[in-house]
Amino acid sequence: MARNGLLIQYEWCTGCHACEVACKQEHNYPAGVCGIKVVEVVNAGQDKVFVDFAPFTTRFCDLCADRTKSGEEPTCVKHCQATCITYGTVAALAKEQEKMPRSSLFAPK
Ligand code: SF4
Ligand code: SF4
Repeated sequence: MARNGLLIQYEWCTGCHACEVACKQEHNYPAGVCGIKVVEVVNAGQDKVFVDFAPFTTRFCDLCADRTKSGEEPTCVKHCQATCITYGTVAALAKEQEKMPRSSLFAPK
């Protein structure tokens, strides 16, 4: 059976944390636990400061098994207004990633 995952194009991530909130609500996770976390990375250049937001999945990501079983997309995908997150087979996402300069492919167990 094909393995599924998430492709996150963090080039577009605004750091809004909507994916975290949606994931927490969907799974009713307690405080401090979430299937996805958004990390802020600050790089100070000589005359400019660059801020990147890097969302990454944690061990608690189950790829929204209950939702995807019934044909719905994962809730983080649905709630990301910047459309950074794509759900699909790892093979299809890897192909898609070839066109994306700053992205991560997650294939949780
Ligand atoms: S796929 Fe579901 S469980 Fe995984 S990070 Fe997104 S919302 Fe959380
Ligand atoms: S919802 Fe989308 S834009 Fe907002 S933090 Fe998550 S990945 Fe980034």
